[in-house]
Amino acid sequence: SLGQRVRTRFAPSPTGYLHVGGLRTALYNYLYARKAGGDFIVRIEDTDQARKVEGADKDLLKTLELSGIVPDESIEHGGNFGPYVQSQRLDIYKQYCQQLLEQNHAYYCFATAEELEENRQLQQKQGMQPKYNRKWLPQHMGGDMPQGEIQKKLDEGAPYVIRMKVPDYISIMFEDIVRGPVEFDSATVDDQVLMKSDGFPTYHFASVIDDHLMEITHIIRGEEWLSSMPKHLLLYEFFGWEPPKFAHLPLLLNPDRSKLSKRQGDVAVEDFLNKGYSSEAILNFVALLGWNEGEGTEQEIYSLDQLIEKFSLERVGKAGAVFNIDKLNWIEKQY
Ligand code: GLU
Repeated sequence: SLGQRVRTRFAPSPTGYLHVGGLRTALYNYLYARKAGGDFIVRIEDTDQARKVEGADKDLLKTLELSGIVPDESIEHGGNFGPYVQSQRLDIYKQYCQQLLEQNHAYYCFATAEELEENRQLQQKQGMQPKYNRKWLPQHMGGDMPQGEIQKKLDEGAPYVIRMKVPDYISIMFEDIVRGPVEFDSATVDDQVLMKSDGFPTYHFASVIDDHLMEITHIIRGEEWLSSMPKHLLLYEFFGWEPPKFAHLPLLLNPDRSKLSKRQGDVAVEDFLNKGYSSEAILNFVALLGWNEGEGTEQEIYSLDQLIEKFSLERVGKAGAVFNIDKLNWIEKQY
C-alpha cells in the first residue's frame, strides 16, 4: 500500500547450481529494490528434503555474491539476520497451519501413496484432470469423513498430510505487473498439500507465510509460478493478509526457441565466471533478457548503477527471451 517500504526477495531452492534464469530473477529483484531505495533479501527455500542438494545453498549464495548481487539483510554483510533459511522456521509454519485447521480452511488427509495413484489413474481414464478426491474431507467441512475416523487415525499416529480446502466455485483474479489481468477458476485448483508427512511445509505454504512475515511488497519470479497463483491468493485470503504485487518473468529460450536447457550450452552462472566472463558483462547480458529501456533505444552496455537507475518492471516483456551466447560475447568485449 501507499508509502510502504519496497522489499523484494530472491528465494532459491538449494537443488543445484545458480542458473542464468535464477540470476536474472535475482537481478530484477535487486534492481527494483535498489531503485526504490528499498530492501532486497535472500531466502533459502529448503523444505523439500528429497530434492535438497548438500552444499547447494552455500554455492548459490557465493555465486550470487561473485556476480555482484549482495542482499541487504545478511549477517555476513553486517546485518542482524539473514539469509533466511526455511528449514529453521518450521515452528512458524506449524503454528499458521494450526490456525487454518481451526478455521476449517485445512484438513488432515491420511490417503496413502497407492490410494492417491489409483485415484489419479481412475480420473485420468475418465478424462478428468487429476485432483485429490477429498475422501478425508471432514463432515463438518462439507465432506463425508466422520470426525471419529479422523481422530482414530490421529490417535494411532498414522502418517498424514494437511491439505487446504479450495472453495468449490469462485473466480480468482489478480493483476500481474508483466502479464496484466489474469483469472483462474477455483474448480481447476487441487486441495494443495500445505504440510507434508515429514513435518515440513510445501513450497506454496512456506513461501506465502514468509513473504507476508518478511513484508515483501513485490514478488518477481519466473513464469512457471504463475499457475500457483490461485493457491497463493487463497492462502492470503484465508489469513486475511493483503497480497503483495506480482510480476512473472518470461521464459528463457534457446535460439531455436525451445526452453533454455543445458543441452545447448552453459546455463550455470558459475561456468561463465570460471571461463573468465566478467560479472559486469554477465549482469548486463542477463538484464537484457526480457527487459529493455524503451522502443528505439540504442544503448546495450549498462553499468550496474545505470541498470538501477533505468530498470522498470513496466518494461519487462511477456514474450520469451532468447539466450544468445553471441550477444554475451559481444558485451564481454565492450568491457
Ligand atoms: N523456491 C522457488 C524456486 O526455486 C521460489 C519461487 C518463488 O519465487 O516464489 O524457484
